Amino acid sequence: MSYDVAIVGSGPGGAVTARECARRGLSVVVLEEGDHVEPGEVAPYSLEQMRRQYRHGGLTVALGRPPVAYTEASCVGGGSEVNSGLYHRPDSGVLDEWSRTNAIEGLGAAELAPWSTLVEERLSVATAPGPLSPASEVLRRGAETLGWDGLDVPRWQRPDEAGGKGARQTMLRTYLADAVAAGAEVRPRVRALRLRLERGRATGVHTDRGVVSADQVVVCGGAIQTPALLLRSGIRRNVGRGLSVHPTVKVLADFDAEVNDPADLATYQVKEFAPGLTLGGSAGRPGMIALGLSGTWERDRDLPADWPRQSVYYASIRGQGSGRVRLVPGFEDPLVTYALTRRDLAALRAGLGRLMLLLAAAGARVQVPSYVGAPRVLDADQVPSAAGAMTRGNASVMTVHLCGTAAMGEDRRRGVTDSFGRVHGVANLRVNDASLLPSAPGINPQGTLMAIAHRNVDQMLEGAG
Ligand SMILES: Cc1cc2nc3c(=O)[nH]c(=O)nc-3n(C[C@H](O)[C@H](O)[C@H](O)COP(=O)(O)OP(=O)(O)OC[C@H]3O[C@@H](n4cnc5c(N)ncnc54)[C@H](O)[C@@H]3O)c2cc1C
Repeated sequence: MSYDVAIVGSGPGGAVTARECARRGLSVVVLEEGDHVEPGEVAPYSLEQMRRQYRHGGLTVALGRPPVAYTEASCVGGGSEVNSGLYHRPDSGVLDEWSRTNAIEGLGAAELAPWSTLVEERLSVATAPGPLSPASEVLRRGAETLGWDGLDVPRWQRPDEAGGKGARQTMLRTYLADAVAAGAEVRPRVRALRLRLERGRATGVHTDRGVVSADQVVVCGGAIQTPALLLRSGIRRNVGRGLSVHPTVKVLADFDAEVNDPADLATYQVKEFAPGLTLGGSAGRPGMIALGLSGTWERDRDLPADWPRQSVYYASIRGQGSGRVRLVPGFEDPLVTYALTRRDLAALRAGLGRLMLLLAAAGARVQVPSYVGAPRVLDADQVPSAAGAMTRGNASVMTVHLCGTAAMGEDRRRGVTDSFGRVHGVANLRVNDASLLPSAPGINPQGTLMAIAHRNVDQMLEGAG
């Protein structure tokens, strides 16, 4: 069967593309490798969720020194189904920086503002009603004691009628539902193997269920799989270079009172050192806590017995390092590498120190930074040596924010696509996901990529391409 538009990947980028194309009357198919898992079917942050909604159960790593563990969702709705739902408007300073470095047209904050408003309305972006959760209150209290700036970050979560937190507005509940209502077909468990290219134009997608023909192909597989698919299809120029992430380190903190909500996490972020450094809270199920202690498990295996009084917090930097996605002949998965710079390592140490000072100020009794052989930190005086002892050799670094591997821009020395996601040198082929963002934005990225995806698909539908 032939479609006007075939979209690979149903995450935030693919869902925006599908909704807008279907609403303008185009025939649309969305090919999604992962399963359809209804919101609420698996417990948030659980091991079952990792198994059903993440690629390889969430166990993926970018090789380097230190290696950087990363997670990719793989399910209908992509990352939106599993993530924390924290929303920021695109940062105007970062947009200006990208416009300059990559020669991107029309990417000012004012130009994106109407798209951001649309996203905020459709996703019901708001701060949670009622008092801060205990895990958030820890961050707020520490920041207030130290005189640091922070905010309770709005989320795509519509409060329920009883004034409770309500349900996160994932793509399945919003953009994909709209797309399907407008006639789009979403096909789960279909993997795009490579693009069908004929005489310099994309005409469809080869999948593990046969060929899908389409006039336009939009690749939205996320910042690891999008470049892998382009490379498998023989599109190579700059593809897979420039992988950019928010390298993140964590601390397990133990308090007098209960702080942990196993079904949720802190929404408060400390932004005193933004956009270079963000401090916030992670998920705190017992399994996550045990993972946070993997570097000191022999000593600290008794700690998770008290897990409701413990929570995991993070320090996340806007890394300057860079990574690459490459194909390895004979293997299905791409090889991902990431090189942390010396400055990144210093910034992570400083971030870890600031995080531990903040947690000590908020009343943490015991802290364990998550690096191999880390000491237990019992008061603020011990923070400098504990942070300073994190090295390339022992650091345990992770990330959930991946960007930059098919960067947009008119500068063909850097960009894979033009300013609006059209792949340079191939007609009727676009990218419309986090791969386009030239670098990690210093804020949770979904709001930024969705506004950009809206703008790009609008330009496509106006017939400019
Ligand atoms: C645990 C976690 C927490 C996060 N928290 C936040 C947050 O609070 N706020 C925020 O702004 N961001 C957050 N993020 C990041 C955010 O989720 C991502 O930036 C966003 O989902 C990226 O969207 P995308 O469209 O680029 O790709 P993705 O969401 O990665 O979706 C890509 C989809 O394409 C599919 N796919 C890939 N290749 C193929 C193929 N060959 N064939 C068929 N299908 C394919 C994948 O299975 C996947 O479902 C978080 C991410 C994670 C993992």
